[in-house]
Amino acid sequence: MKTTDERNRQLEIDDKKYLWHPFTQMQDYMRERPLIIEEGDGCLLKDIYGNEYIDGVSSLWANVHGHRKEKLDIAVRNQLSKIAHSTLLGLSNIPAIECAKKLIEIAPDGLTRVFYSDSGSTAVEIALKIAFQYHQQADTGDPKKTKFISLTNAYHGDTIGSVSVGGIDLFHATYKSLLFYSIKAQSPYCYRCPFGRSYPQCDFECLKEMEEIIKTHSHEAAALVIEPIVQGAAGILVQPPGYLKKVRELCTKYNVIMIADEVAVGFGKTGRMFACEHEGVAPDIMAIAKGISGGYLPLAATLTREEIYEGFLGEQEELKTFFHGHTYTGNPLACAVSLANMEVFEEEHTLENLQEKIECLKERLQPFAALPHVGEVRQRGFMVGIELVADKTSKEPYLPEERIGHKVIMEARKHGVIIRPLSDVIVLMPPLGISIDGLNRLCDAAYNSIRAITEGKPAA
Ligand SMILES: *Cc1c(COP(=O)(O)O)cnc(C)c1O
Repeated sequence: MKTTDERNRQLEIDDKKYLWHPFTQMQDYMRERPLIIEEGDGCLLKDIYGNEYIDGVSSLWANVHGHRKEKLDIAVRNQLSKIAHSTLLGLSNIPAIECAKKLIEIAPDGLTRVFYSDSGSTAVEIALKIAFQYHQQADTGDPKKTKFISLTNAYHGDTIGSVSVGGIDLFHATYKSLLFYSIKAQSPYCYRCPFGRSYPQCDFECLKEMEEIIKTHSHEAAALVIEPIVQGAAGILVQPPGYLKKVRELCTKYNVIMIADEVAVGFGKTGRMFACEHEGVAPDIMAIAKGISGGYLPLAATLTREEIYEGFLGEQEELKTFFHGHTYTGNPLACAVSLANMEVFEEEHTLENLQEKIECLKERLQPFAALPHVGEVRQRGFMVGIELVADKTSKEPYLPEERIGHKVIMEARKHGVIIRPLSDVIVLMPPLGISIDGLNRLCDAAYNSIRAITEGKPAA
């Protein structure tokens, strides 16, 4: 028998020997001691030594009601006692049906069909293919519409199609020659406005450019893809009020399909079930993933309007079929837990109870803005981005090699919090189920870690 200590040391050796971690420079990773998670409970993660940490970014923006949520655990176990997986290609299964029905019930108006997949990237990839194919073959489509409009700073996933509509050079530049062309509109990153204006005196110059682009390309644009309300991976860039509604109006006016990528913002993260609801917007296609399964299992879905779905109907030989489907599409375990996730939202009034926590978070974030190296604090609901700058007046960023964001999150671990930065933006995005006490601890740790690293202040 190995002792726990021996087991733990072996795990640390094997982690470095066998794993290749995502979005990670492994050469740097090798220098640090790996943090290996063994258990979770509520909003806490426990490592192999029994140290506890607040899950400050919801296990990468996915967890919703906390870990080992009883109802969700039971949903998986019950389904497991029936069947773990059967295919949705030509067959159906009970959880896939029930989950789809529930998704349509809670989705913005007009979305009527659910196409399942297994990650946010595939959900977006599918949305793009559907929009493209729809225009190629539907009576109501237009085969000249083959291009996509997307935003700078956008992140829609890591597959080639979703990278093609992405706009984060750090992640995407390497693959440039592999990608299809997409028409780019400037995103409303108000802190660093690409037009050098400031909101609200700016008169929405970004939207004027957007209208020009949509108008100029309306004859060839199949769809516009957008992360509604918050561009997540770019650094929690919160769109100014009215922006999304206007984008919807422009898509309607110029007959461009609107694809909303709600992968990050969906399932309560902004304070509403879906971010589009903040502006009374209903997209034509909606991609969802991350929080869809409560953060339990890989599941994603692409929802469409009936008219788009109908564009794929025809005789076999017309070849209008959507020839797309992943092996684990509509996986019963994932769909069962997703249904339970949505039921918890209703039974526990998750969104109603969240509003008080959002206010508390807002209050707790106020002192951050006064720190000498905090350029901007952005918050929408439970999505928070704290942008660190070398110089507050000039907004001069830190040098990338300083890895300031990374240093802050490593410091936060000493304070019992796991978070992950986006370059120099410190992200806080706890599970919706976190307690006020947990929120306070998260904010204290983030505040003290930022001071310790950017000001050399020892923790209070
Ligand atoms: C995370 C994310 C994706 C990709 O989802 P994966 O499940 O990681 O493939 C797509 N779009 C947005 C907005 C995201 O935040």
